[in-house]
This record gives sequence, structure tokens and C-alpha cells, in this order.
Amino acid sequence: MKIETLAIHAGNSTDSNTKAVVQPITLSTTFERAEDGSYPAGYIYTRAANPNRLSLENVLAKLDGGAEACAFSSGNAAGSAVFQSLEPGSQIIAPEDMYHGLKALMNEVFSRTLEISFIDMSDLNLVERTINPRTTKLIWIETPSNPLLKISDIKSICQLAQKHHIIVCCDNTFATPVFQRPLDLGADLVMYSSTKYFGGHSDVLGGALVTKTVNEQWEKIKSIQTLSGAVPSPFDCYMTVRGLKTLPYRMRGHEENAIQIAQFLEQHPAVEKVFYPGLINHPSYAIARSQMSGFSGMLSFTLKGGQEAAIKAANSLKLITQATSLGGVESLIEHRASVEGPNTKTPFNLLRLSVGLENIQDLIEDLNQALQ
Ligand SMILES: *Cc1c(COP(=O)(O)O)cnc(C)c1O
Repeated sequence: MKIETLAIHAGNSTDSNTKAVVQPITLSTTFERAEDGSYPAGYIYTRAANPNRLSLENVLAKLDGGAEACAFSSGNAAGSAVFQSLEPGSQIIAPEDMYHGLKALMNEVFSRTLEISFIDMSDLNLVERTINPRTTKLIWIETPSNPLLKISDIKSICQLAQKHHIIVCCDNTFATPVFQRPLDLGADLVMYSSTKYFGGHSDVLGGALVTKTVNEQWEKIKSIQTLSGAVPSPFDCYMTVRGLKTLPYRMRGHEENAIQIAQFLEQHPAVEKVFYPGLINHPSYAIARSQMSGFSGMLSFTLKGGQEAAIKAANSLKLITQATSLGGVESLIEHRASVEGPNTKTPFNLLRLSVGLENIQDLIEDLNQALQ
């Protein structure tokens, strides 16, 4: 089955009691035992398993062509489960410009037990030189990266990792399985913040991991999911399943609008530089083309007038909302450096734009008046 069909059907089952076409939300935390002590439907307690979470995990696994998926209460909880599954003393190689919330989690919570090397992942030689054959256990990829839209070569990094028996996990939040399939390119795990494009409407928090194969590492991750209990509520699972049904169509719309905005900004006299992997002059355009079937709806741009001009432009927008997060139907813009804090490597004249599904003419008009 193709992705549009899977997105609609793989997370849903008609209710056998009521024949409701859309699967109802099962709020009960506990499930009745039979006289012989068994659990007739397979459910015991909702932290361990819940019908809505199972449906969500089924569609998540199918969308990425993976064996199984685990749903979490946030993207950071999903990342956390991967880090917790590593033995103390393990080294992680991660991108220096990775999503700052996960970087902070690594630095503030996991740096006591794990060694983390943040490097420029677009430099393959540097990746190879950073590998310690004894201690490196995980290579974390985020491509396109947040907020500089840098591209890492998934296939080449996975080949390097395989030589040294290192696990690769790819944060695929920006591209989604609609545009990029890391498991097919050699990754072991894919990670998502479902809060973004999966939910798609900025009203549900969630995270996910998808595995290529069920192995010892995955069994550890699964027990961390159910024992630590950072699981999404049945309602959150329902909302995410609902959002996923339109994911393939929404992603096409996000990309179509983003390409036009990138081209508009590129020729605008107030703009210094546009960061979008779908532009031919992006330094990794060739790699992006080879591993992505579309370039998604996220872009950043810097302004010639510095930080002051960037903040002024963001404040002058009327339709595009100034807020953090991304992947919703509404366009959002953000001055990233001021959210990321004093240690940020993000340029101060940069704005990140999550291009929504509004009419493209309205979006360009709004940007045009704000950049005057
Ligand atoms: C938002 C985000 C995360 C973290 O997800 P939460 O759902 O906010 O915990 C991780 N990676 C990327 C690329 C993100 O955009």
C-alpha cells in the first residue's frame, strides 16, 4: 500500500462493539481479567499498552517502513529513551547545530553518564575521525537540521557506522516519512517530534521512535518506554492518528508554499541569505535531492540589517504569527537566537519560518510588507 492509504487506514480500526467507523478513545486505565486470570483483549494496564497507542504505533511503523514503533509523550522523551538505552561511558556523536532542546537534554541530563561529541555532521571525514571504535555507540543525525537547514548524508554516515557497529538514529522531524526515509538509507532508528508535522495543528505534544528491526537495543527501548512511562495519553494518541491521516497531502502543500517563499526571499533586497535545501545554491542541494523526495516546509533566512532588522520584520508581520514550534497548518516565524539563549550558534539576524498552508499570495504579501 502507498503512503496516502497507509496514513488513513493503518492507525484506525472499526469498533467491533458499536461499529463506529473511527476508532473510539479508550480512556480506561485498566482492563478486566477473565476467570482463568488471562486478559482476553491483551490489555492489562494503560502504561503498558492502550488500544489508541497501539493504533498510533502501527501507523507510525508502517509510514517509515519499519518493524515496530514506540510512541512517547514528547519528542524529547523519545530521544531520552534512546540515550537511556546506552551503557554508561558510551560516546554519542551528534550534530553541533541539532535541535537545541535535545542538545540541552544531552548536556544537562546525560553528560554525567555519556560522552557527547557535537560536530559538523556535513563533514564526513570529521565524523570518521570522531569515531572511537571502542566507545562510540550512537551517531545521531538530524537532517535537514534546525535552524540552519544543513544536510547530512544519511547513506554515507550509515555506511561508516556499520563498519564500526554503531547505531544510527535520525531525527526526521523536518522531512517526515513523506519526504525522507532514513531506514531505507541504512539508519537503525528514526525519531520524531510528533508535535510538529504529525499532529499538524499545533494542539498535541508527542514523540516517536521507529525501528528497522526488532533487536536487543529495541527491546531495551521498549521497556524504557513502558517502565519510565513517558507515554502519550489515549486522547493525544487519537489526535496524532487523526493528524497523520492528512500528512501526505499537507506535506505537499507545505513544500509547494515553501519553495515559492524561498525564491521570493532570495531575490528580496533586504535579505542576506536563504537557507532552504530545495534551492539550487544550497551547499548540499545534490545530497538533499538524492535522499529527499521533497524539501518540506521549513526555511530560515538572514537579514542584511542585522538582529534589529530581523526583530523588526518579525514584529511587523500581520498574518504570520511570531511563536516557537513548527509543522502546523498556520505559518509561524521565530527569532531563534533569542529563544536558544546565550550559548546559541544561530546567527542573530536569522529568522526561522515554518511555512503553513495559507494561500501563497497572502503569505508573500505579508512578508513583503514586513520587509519594507
Ligand atoms: C520539536 C523538536 C524536537 C523535540 O520535540 P518535543 O515534542 O518538543 O519534545 C526534536 N527535534 C526536532 C527537530 C524538533 O523540531
